[in-house]
Amino acid sequence: MKYLLTVSYRKAKKSTMDSFGIYLHIPYCKSKCRYCDFYSAPGARGVPQSYVDALLRELAKKHRRPDTLYFGGGTPALLSPTQVDRLVRAADPLPGAEITLEANPDTVTADSLRGFRAAGVTRISFGVQSADDAQLRRLGRTHTAAGAAGALRMAREAGFPEICGDIMLALPHYTNEEFDATLHLLREGGCTHISAYLLKIEPGTAFARFPPEGLPTPDQAADFYLYAVRRLEEAGYRQYEISNFARPGHEGRHNLLYWNCRDYWGVGPAAHSCLNNRRSFWPDDVQGFINGSTAEQAEGVCDAEDFLLMQLRLCKGLDLDEYARWGGHLTKIQMDFLRHCVAAGYAAFEGNVLRLTPAGMVVQNAILEALI
Ligand code: SF4
Repeated sequence: MKYLLTVSYRKAKKSTMDSFGIYLHIPYCKSKCRYCDFYSAPGARGVPQSYVDALLRELAKKHRRPDTLYFGGGTPALLSPTQVDRLVRAADPLPGAEITLEANPDTVTADSLRGFRAAGVTRISFGVQSADDAQLRRLGRTHTAAGAAGALRMAREAGFPEICGDIMLALPHYTNEEFDATLHLLREGGCTHISAYLLKIEPGTAFARFPPEGLPTPDQAADFYLYAVRRLEEAGYRQYEISNFARPGHEGRHNLLYWNCRDYWGVGPAAHSCLNNRRSFWPDDVQGFINGSTAEQAEGVCDAEDFLLMQLRLCKGLDLDEYARWGGHLTKIQMDFLRHCVAAGYAAFEGNVLRLTPAGMVVQNAILEALI
């Protein structure tokens, strides 16, 4: 990301006792969803052992035991339980670590879920998206609402302490009733954590080439978001980040590392890392990753500006004392702008903490652009 104004930078001190997470990217999916711009290869029925071996090769270089381990993708549930078990052992997480695995409802069975749990996975995250089968077909998803309910039941029976579900908002022909039905499905399914994202038409996707009919206007999308925030809170899911809601005590520890600018190491093509405030990434090249011909590329430093951007995603907001320790400070012009935001109901100051309200989160990009 590039921003116009450079904020003075001083590296914030991180203690070696700080939390550390490992992200393993699994770039394989059964098929490509029409809205998706993630780096993944369609058509795979499983994850090639050569890819797992490449992850194991890289994990052998790690210097720290992680507090969190995250299998993201793509569709990590295409890994076999044996492959997950080998990767967990190689990552060697600390006792009590959070170990998350992303899944699609139709890529799991009762046996595979029991196997993932036995391998140490504590948190299973399902891309449910909608409880409307016609909507799921429109999105290019390969599961049904009944399939999602079945997968959530099997996850409960397999004994996962944390079960997560994703919902997409402001889909074509969207209604509050569709949201309510999807929330009901996830709640009845025992979800402890829900992520709710607005649909964004990304360049290069099937939706960008063939835009679907019935997309809400930006104002309607904002209303769907605010409705979702309210309904999730009423259902006992407390918002802690712009798109993330959890039963108290069930917040995702791994993603909080990103938003709190802690150390994380991403492994696999298109995976990003930030270690000691230095960012890097792997090129989008599965074959190069497998045969070892690609390497992590430096991407720059994580500075006060990044810290501000990340903290304002969180409901707890930006602590200005901590911001100062990163070398950042708000100028008079920025303070004047923020006072306008407060008066308009988009932001609030509580003592030395600046946070965005739900209405401010809807227009977060515009606020941050103006601020930075
Ligand atoms: S949305 Fe998920 S399942 Fe669909 S193509 Fe993208 S990564 Fe794969």
